[in-house]
Amino acid sequence: MTDLYYPLRSLREGHWFKLICGASFQHLPAIRSLVIAYTLAGADCIDVAADPAVIAIAKAALKLAASFTQTDDERHPHALPWLMVSLNDGEDPHFRKAEFDATACPPACTRPCELICPADAIVFASALSSTMAPGRGAGVVSDRCYGCGRCVPICPVQQIETRSYQSTPAAMVPALLQDGIDAIEIHTQIGHMDEFCRLWAAIEPWVHTLKLIAISCPDGESLLDYLWALYDHIAPLPCPLVWQLDGRPMSGDIGVGATRAAVKLGQKVVQAGLPGYIQLAGGTNHHTVPKLRALNLLHPQSLNASTTVLPLSDQPLVAPRQFHEAADDGVASYVAGVAYGSYARTLLMPILNQLDAIGLAVAEPAARALAMAQARSSGATIHSSLQPSLSSTAERSRSIGLEEAPDLLWEAVGLARSLVSQLKTFDTRQRTRLDL
Ligand code: SF4
Ligand code: SF4
Repeated sequence: MTDLYYPLRSLREGHWFKLICGASFQHLPAIRSLVIAYTLAGADCIDVAADPAVIAIAKAALKLAASFTQTDDERHPHALPWLMVSLNDGEDPHFRKAEFDATACPPACTRPCELICPADAIVFASALSSTMAPGRGAGVVSDRCYGCGRCVPICPVQQIETRSYQSTPAAMVPALLQDGIDAIEIHTQIGHMDEFCRLWAAIEPWVHTLKLIAISCPDGESLLDYLWALYDHIAPLPCPLVWQLDGRPMSGDIGVGATRAAVKLGQKVVQAGLPGYIQLAGGTNHHTVPKLRALNLLHPQSLNASTTVLPLSDQPLVAPRQFHEAADDGVASYVAGVAYGSYARTLLMPILNQLDAIGLAVAEPAARALAMAQARSSGATIHSSLQPSLSSTAERSRSIGLEEAPDLLWEAVGLARSLVSQLKTFDTRQRTRLDL
């Protein structure tokens, strides 16, 4: 038995917590902070968009979060959440990347582009091989760039451009999976059987490398028939299956009522007895778990569930190949977990805003100094040549890592935990610096 299975235990016991940093939200510094805070708060899974830059930042945040944790048992370090990547069967993802020719940069340029980039995607020869010719190999590291565009207006000689391109989910799957992600979620909708099958054909050869497959689908007429058809197409699976029921997408922060659609959808699918675990999303918020509990839709064990951090004692754990036996045992007779997106982000927004404010305070003098230096070197006045590069707060700020502001870090973890703890209680043997 290994730590590999702790998130799986959360599914089995009905206290699975997933953070969604999905395709609609790709501000890398905020994603990084959210991943750190919710990992330390005990999340089981982090779901991100299929963008290499987003995946890279999520991985780095998970690694950082792991360094903040400790357990009393050295043999069983803190179990990290699984990293899930979402793919849409009906859409080819668009990407935007910045690019420029570093050999054409004026030697006197103080490189404000490098300072402003929140993804450390702009590098110069000093960060590369010292034997490299000036400008060679320098520029935008494509896999880190997520197309935020901040670098474009800050360049005093307007030489940074952005380029858009399109990929297909099927073309992306091998690269994603070679990159070591734990789970894939396929977003589909009723009537997309052909598109789903095309995407599944690309995923299937890799499915043995995954710890989990999730399928996300919103409600609609003949939903259950559609889900059964999907199941018949992909079964048998060598890993667990989660049905993500998307009640009212991206609305959890709107108010109490937003959660009703997800809970109602959960009720409907639980009654259908589909093999697999059921997890709600779309409109989920602080009202979701109490509502599920009131309707007896949560596993009784979730009331006493500890976090997924510590090793199980003598309780057998379901290995992937045993999954279908467990499903036949009635795994789908309750809601196994909840995913939170916009609500989880809104909850931490005061912290994210404070981080931005610190970034602005730190960067303002530096940005002004840079602007003055550039204005002097170009012989122009600061107002005529560089004012556009200082036009917005976002462009003037520097990204501050959550770990650089420890008070905010632990405040964020406390807020995140207020959401996670609705599904889990915390085992006192698991300690993080929150408890020290
Ligand atoms: S600042 Fe430029 S290089 Fe950096 S992520 Fe944004 S678009 Fe890409
Ligand atoms: S700001 Fe423009 S000119 Fe200066 S280093 Fe960056 S890309 Fe080159």
